This record gives sequence, structure tokens and C-alpha cells, in this order.
Amino acid sequence: MLEIVHVGDKVLRQIAEGVDLSTEKEYISHLIKEMIETVKNAGGVGLAAPQVGISKCLIIVKNPDADEFIPMINPEIVWKSFDKECMKEGCLSVLGEDGKPIHENVFRYTRIRVKYQDIDGQEHEDLIKNHLMARIVQHETDHLIGKLFIDYLEK
Ligand SMILES: [Zn+2]
Repeated sequence: MLEIVHVGDKVLRQIAEGVDLSTEKEYISHLIKEMIETVKNAGGVGLAAPQVGISKCLIIVKNPDADEFIPMINPEIVWKSFDKECMKEGCLSVLGEDGKPIHENVFRYTRIRVKYQDIDGQEHEDLIKNHLMARIVQHETDHLIGKLFIDYLEK
């Protein structure tokens, strides 16, 4: 199991490095397994590599329809719906004074298309129609550019 880092750790504000599966496949495959175990244990629905201190373009996203975790390597949102929706959102790296994740309302696109690679280097481009899953992908890909959901809140 991996340790989750919190606000204040500079890795959360860095631009993550692209994954090169031709040289890193074994390492990334191991990291995916550890990250899935970590997010499950924390009761989360998504996790980005920077949240475990690793500045790499890798996210784990729960598919709420199938109750499974999908690893997305080098993910990129290539299309966003016109519609947005506001919902409470939390992050395993953003804790309140009680040591538990805080939850705040954030607007997100309801549907997206995401391009990513799987561990075999296969390219995928998925239309995510499930609003919760689309939200998770937007939240996690933000982590790869050093952005946190609290950045959307009014000061
Ligand atoms: Zn987060």
C-alpha cells in the first residue's frame, strides 16, 4: 500500500511526466496494482499518481457501472459536453481539521471523451456518459497538471 500525500506537498502542484511504456512497463504495472489497492483501502473513487508522490501521467478511475477500477495511462480529455453540473466533490489529498476529506460543490462537464493507453500500450478513446465517472476523470486529470478541486472554489 502506498502513502497518500496531502495539500502542501509540492508534488501535487507539479506537471506530471508522460509515461513511456517501452521502458517503464514493469514499473507502471506494479504501480497500478499498488494504486488500486490504495484507493480501495481509502474508500476513494479515483487516484492520480502524484497523490502517492509519483509525478507520472497515470490515474485510476472507478467505473461506477461495473464497480471496477480502470487504470488510464497518459490520459487526455479530448472532448467535453456543453452541459455542466454542480456536485459535492472530495479528494483524498485534501483533508479537513478532522483528518477526513472535505467536500465542496464543483461544476464539471457531464460527459467527456478521454484518450489514454492501457498497460499493453493499446490506445483507447472512450466516451464517458456516466456523469460521476466523467467527473472523476476530470478531477484526476487535473492532478496531472498540478490542479486541485479547491482551486475552483471561491476564495
Ligand atoms: Zn484528488
